[in-house]
Amino acid sequence: MVRFTLFILLLLVLAASLSRLVKEIFIQRRKLNRPTEAEELVQDPCCQTYIPAGTAVRKRVAGRNYYFCSKDCMRKFLDEKKPQNP
Ligand SMILES: [Zn+2]
Repeated sequence: MVRFTLFILLLLVLAASLSRLVKEIFIQRRKLNRPTEAEELVQDPCCQTYIPAGTAVRKRVAGRNYYFCSKDCMRKFLDEKKPQNP
């Protein structure tokens, strides 16, 4: 009888450690997936294309962040903005 209870206890300990292990693997997987989720798409206000924020050309104009696919688009956009703010 003592052996039987010991066996049950051992099973419970094993199950607890196993569930902890599965949880840790799950958390690690979520951490690994985060960088791809964080790569959001931003719109180029000049040519209207969508580019990943990580590779976009960023420019801060009047307290707002603008993202461009290239420096040419950034220049074009800034040139168009100039006449509005003399
Ligand atoms: Zn562009």
